[in-house]
Amino acid sequence: AKAVGRRTSMRYEAAMDLDVQRRATLSAALRTVLDRNELSLAYQPRLSLVSNQIAGVEALLRWHSPEHGQIHPAQFIPLAEETGMILEIGEWALTEACRALANWREAGLTDLPIAVNVSSLQLLRGEFPQVVERVLAKTGIPANRLELELTESVLMDNPAEASISLQQFRRIGVNLAIDDFGTGYSSLAYLKRLPITMLKIDKEFIDDLAENTDDAAITTTIIAMGHSLGLTVVAEGVETSTQAQWLRDHRCDEIQGYWLAEPMPAAEVTRFIQDRSWAGAP
Ligand code: C2E
Ligand code: CA
Ligand code: CA
Ligand code: CA
Repeated sequence: AKAVGRRTSMRYEAAMDLDVQRRATLSAALRTVLDRNELSLAYQPRLSLVSNQIAGVEALLRWHSPEHGQIHPAQFIPLAEETGMILEIGEWALTEACRALANWREAGLTDLPIAVNVSSLQLLRGEFPQVVERVLAKTGIPANRLELELTESVLMDNPAEASISLQQFRRIGVNLAIDDFGTGYSSLAYLKRLPITMLKIDKEFIDDLAENTDDAAITTTIIAMGHSLGLTVVAEGVETSTQAQWLRDHRCDEIQGYWLAEPMPAAEVTRFIQDRSWAGAP
């Protein structure tokens, strides 16, 4: 539980808002989620403002407990990190997401990448790159169709070790994104040295983009900086066409958020992509 940074501490607070009894109950229930098949993944697409195509799909964990109901990731992921269960849960999510992608590939979506979130405990285990390679081999997914999303705190907790794993991923062709960008501490010098391919601007800066000049300035700067480092820049939590239009005008590469689509079950993804109801917007 020590390998956590700022971003994870925020999640810890969300988990700590739970009273002691509920935390203990949920922690215990978490131990059996895999055996009891209580986890699932929801998938949220993102849109390229450059090509007007769906640029990828992010896998997001969902926990439905028969006893405790629907529990938010912001509550159970910190508990899973504390107990170490995140290692098994994370590997399950990676495997399940790659299996879903294998199905979509069979339906013709062979260019589509899948994005999977990675917690610091997973990354800091030396054998994580091998775990990923094993899952890719087992599911038949090419490494360059996988994107791993890492938060700044995951990277800054232990920069030297994180950097070794990241180099291994790039060597095999796995893409790396920095998630929640702008909320952590990573310095530009450090960013430049990491072999990442994508920045995801945190929703916090996107919410009031059209009204708040500070947020607009920060977002403009992140886009310019990302582009000067050769990175794809994605805006997260885009909820309105005003935000989408602003981001298009300011050359953000991709957008993700409820305005395009809420996270959906695997079975709905091919239809969503093939319908092209999102084409031509904003
Ligand atoms: P995240 O990686 O930043 O994922 C984006 C979160 O924002 C998701 O919440 C998504 O449902 C939500 N979201 C997307 N678009 C919008 C929007 O337009 N408006 C609003 N209000 N929300 C939007 P979710 O699914 O509750 O996940 C929360 C966090 O839990 C994720 O944040 C991620 O940090 C973590 N998480 C989810 N799945 C996994 C996983 O498999 N492994 C790990 N380690 N963490 C995960
Ligand atoms: Ca993410
Ligand atoms: Ca994020
Ligand atoms: Ca976030």
